[in-house]
Amino acid sequence: MAETLTRYDIDKTPLAFSDKSMFIHHLNEEHQDELAMFINAFTPASVGEYDIVSIQELYPDGLLLEVITMNRYQNDFNALKDSKAISNSFAENISSFKHQYFINFFVPISDSETLHEQYISLLQSSATKLGKRTIKLHEQHFRVIDGYYVSPNMYRLVVTAPDNIPLNHPGYAYLFELNSDVFSTINNESENNDKPLQRYYTLRKAWRDPISASVQAWIDVYVHGDTPGGNWARSLVCGMPIKTVRDYPEKVEHLTEGQCLLICDETSLPTVANLLENWQNPLPPLVIAITEEPEDISYLHTLNLCQHLGHDEHFLKENLLHIIKAPTTDLSEQIISLLHARLTTLPLKIGKVWGALEAADIKSLRQQLKAILGLSRQDMVIKVYWRAQ
Ligand SMILES: Cc1cc2nc3c(=O)[nH]c(=O)nc-3n(C[C@H](O)[C@H](O)[C@H](O)COP(=O)(O)OP(=O)(O)OC[C@H]3O[C@@H](n4cnc5c(N)ncnc54)[C@H](O)[C@@H]3O)c2cc1C
Repeated sequence: MAETLTRYDIDKTPLAFSDKSMFIHHLNEEHQDELAMFINAFTPASVGEYDIVSIQELYPDGLLLEVITMNRYQNDFNALKDSKAISNSFAENISSFKHQYFINFFVPISDSETLHEQYISLLQSSATKLGKRTIKLHEQHFRVIDGYYVSPNMYRLVVTAPDNIPLNHPGYAYLFELNSDVFSTINNESENNDKPLQRYYTLRKAWRDPISASVQAWIDVYVHGDTPGGNWARSLVCGMPIKTVRDYPEKVEHLTEGQCLLICDETSLPTVANLLENWQNPLPPLVIAITEEPEDISYLHTLNLCQHLGHDEHFLKENLLHIIKAPTTDLSEQIISLLHARLTTLPLKIGKVWGALEAADIKSLRQQLKAILGLSRQDMVIKVYWRAQ
């Protein structure tokens, strides 16, 4: 499955396809945890929580990965380096090493489509080997029972769901196919449009209905004008089938202990709502919620909060920090300064973070939070849930 390489013994021709560098950049920026999993599962090496893993090159038969082994005390080295107590080259030599690994695909690839398939196979196989949950590719069908707004812009679909859906996994999401036959007809889309239009949506809540014995669920879709996701949700009427093609289990296991910080915008409010209703950690989390319209925060004021989070009003007053996003706002700066102000008045040592926001907002937020909190990859999970175009 894998070969350990020195930097120079590759005698292969790299793959060439148009969006290769975008693919590599995307995985290196947002999926380092998966690349680390490949090394942990398919090589004798073990990637440290602070190490940096990246794809160096793509070949028809596999991925060339590089691991920069970071010293656990990297921040201290940087401080010493900055204070000139040690020289730059000395600090770099003692604090990091590079190793390369070649991870073989199961089947050789030739283009971006087969690359995508093989990447998912590696993901599934490595997660299974390491006993972790991972995405599943399979077609499932839900059926609409009802639809209504639960805040000014959050539209709730009530659905019957397949029997096997998880009832207690906050953040569990499905990739919905929006241009199924019915939706295409409603939107006059070309029947020959073979590229599926897909969006992920989270199970806000799932339960077994005692009367019908069927599994039912809420799926909350944020509607922000005339966009495919919102249009699709609002077009669905009672009895309509909806198709999903992939299950995505969100990474929230690290939140069961330690002081947690949750950061969400409208697309990740359903996950945070579910987390707060099923909170297992003895310490109440600090929540930063970002909405464009002030009234959408009401979404979090109607929860059935988990008992040990205390009285609803008290928790929401003390632990929920609300940012109203303006088009000109530098969101990461706002989050950091709000957090700073909060931690000055009430000193908490944040040990775990979960967040999901827009891609560009996350880029600088990740770096700043990492520098301030010094958390490992495992303890700081910040996901891209949507992209501004
Ligand atoms: C694992 C996962 C779970 C998710 N769960 C949910 C969920 O439960 N509920 C949910 O609503 N979304 C969820 N999302 C996001 C969802 O998949 C869509 O990406 C998102 O709703 C935007 O899709 P769209 O078709 O409405 O807009 P797009 O076609 O993606 O965007 C069209 C335009 O709208 C703007 N836009 C898009 N989203 C927003 C936004 N949030 N705020 C402001 N402007 C925006 C874009 O800038 C763009 O110009 C999830 C994403 C992931 C990855």
